[in-house]
Amino acid sequence: MFDDLKGKKILVTGSTAGIGLEAAKSLASAGARVAIHGSRSADTAQAVLEQFEAGADVAYFQADVRSSDACKSLVESAAEHLGGIDVLINNAGGLGGRNGLESIDDAFFDQVLDLNIRSVVMVTKYAIPYLRRSAEQSGETSSVISTGSIAAREGGGPGASLYGGSKAMVHNLHRNWVKEFTKDNIRFNTVAPGTIDTAFHEDKDQGTRDKISGTIAMGRFGSSAELAPAYVFLASHTASGYVTGQVLDVNGGQMCP
Ligand code: NAD
Repeated sequence: MFDDLKGKKILVTGSTAGIGLEAAKSLASAGARVAIHGSRSADTAQAVLEQFEAGADVAYFQADVRSSDACKSLVESAAEHLGGIDVLINNAGGLGGRNGLESIDDAFFDQVLDLNIRSVVMVTKYAIPYLRRSAEQSGETSSVISTGSIAAREGGGPGASLYGGSKAMVHNLHRNWVKEFTKDNIRFNTVAPGTIDTAFHEDKDQGTRDKISGTIAMGRFGSSAELAPAYVFLASHTASGYVTGQVLDVNGGQMCP
């Protein structure tokens, strides 16, 4: 089913930890050539690359995707290394801190929107020519998968209005891009995680975690490994070539939209 991922050229932003790292590992195990990305120095990233199976075709690229210039050079460097891009996964993102509406200032606004919106818009913009060429040359679809959030659907937790709003924008950008780029055979799908046990929740004490678990039908946080197959499915033309413009919720029943 996923044999078509062998040799596919895939850029995964934010893949040094958590959800992105597990998705990248699963794609590399399926035989894809994966450009790993994070904001950390190449030295630190060596420890990340060592977590991949022996023989995995992975290389690390550093860029702070809050900057449009950095998004451009990330895409160009990854495409040069891979010889193109067949699949883009926009996963880099994060809460960027918590602030109630009355505490939001320009610096906080820019921080959250640059991280979650500018990154997705600019990385995708610069990847489009490669994705278009991939589809033209292969006769199959190329694919963009972005990490959205349950917060896009229910608004986000306390102090996370900009985060929830920015993820809602990610969901909606895809709906627009389906209209613009389906003629080019590029698919756009979103994975919307629920509450996944990563560094994202490191600010929470056990009491808070227990309270959140009580809101999840399965009674527990999910793991990054439980998210990874969603990205593999949406990356594969064979498996999901007729799936575009969709949001795949992976949330243990925390919300059933
Ligand atoms: P994480 O903190 O483990 O991973 C975040 C990744 O983004 C890391 O690889 C990090 O290097 C990268 N990153 C962060 N800021 C960056 C920057 N300025 N430039 C470049 N890279 C940067 O957290 P995670 O939970 O794995 O988050 C991955 C994605 O999933 C994010 O988009 C997050 O918003 C989303 N998400 C997470 C949850 C959850 O419960 N964990 C729920 C919904 C959505």
